[in-house]
Amino acid sequence: MHRTSATIRAAGAGPALEALKRANPDWAPWLAAVEAAVHALDAPPATTVEVTLAVAREDGTPLLDGAMLRIDAAAAAAWVQRLFAHASGFDAAEGLTAVRMGPDEALVLLEAAIERDLERLRRFAADTVDDGAEPVLAIADLAAYPILQASGERVESLRPGAWPYGHCPICGAWAALAELRGLEKKRCLRCARCGSEWQVEWMLCPFCGETDHRKLGSLTPEHGAETRRIDKCESCRAYVKTVTTLSAKPAACVLLDDAETVDLDIAALERGYARPPGGGRLIDVTLEARS
Ligand SMILES: [Zn+2]
Ligand SMILES: [Zn+2]
Repeated sequence: MHRTSATIRAAGAGPALEALKRANPDWAPWLAAVEAAVHALDAPPATTVEVTLAVAREDGTPLLDGAMLRIDAAAAAAWVQRLFAHASGFDAAEGLTAVRMGPDEALVLLEAAIERDLERLRRFAADTVDDGAEPVLAIADLAAYPILQASGERVESLRPGAWPYGHCPICGAWAALAELRGLEKKRCLRCARCGSEWQVEWMLCPFCGETDHRKLGSLTPEHGAETRRIDKCESCRAYVKTVTTLSAKPAACVLLDDAETVDLDIAALERGYARPPGGGRLIDVTLEARS
């Protein structure tokens, strides 16, 4: 059988997904929704995104800011409906299965989800779901995931070479984690939404720009200290999880690696460190139906 690149993308995340399922049986409803999102990388709307970038952007502005994304809106509506059905195992999410998602509604939801526009997502949820906004907010990121991954792949070659920031050069989300890669231990930040990666200096807080080694440090867990740790900054009290890898993980895996290292998030929060507020640099996109 002919293997498309999309099939390879989803397959790359398979082992990590299975490991998460085995280790965290109580995450089953969420992982069912994640699995649906990963499998959506094999099918429309993920593979049918057309991206038109804004003509000009200021330094530090993510590539997709001001972009026009065109998708198959009917396929997107079917995808969101399917995801809602998968997510109905969440607490208080039963109401999602009753939502009737048409192409127009799907475009509104997905555009707000890509932009991380919480106000709009709340309004959308209040208009469409009987029992509150939280279930919609909880899976909005997953709904946008296949579109962001496909968009990231489309524009990857166009992004600026140097990107010394903590937000993603493509979609603007805060880095989910850093990979220390290969023998030379290149430090690459990764985005769990679009899968992007960008190299930053070792001695740098990507969130506030601190480079003073006296302000930067690491916390290591009791177990697995040689392959995973928390890099922290005393100037802004932000942290980034860091894992050692031989080579770049597939884009589809970053979301799963972020979940797999949640114990590091908990340890950092317990010690008073946090990711900066707001989810990252907000972007403005226009999502349209392809004609
Ligand atoms: Zn991104
Ligand atoms: Zn900092």
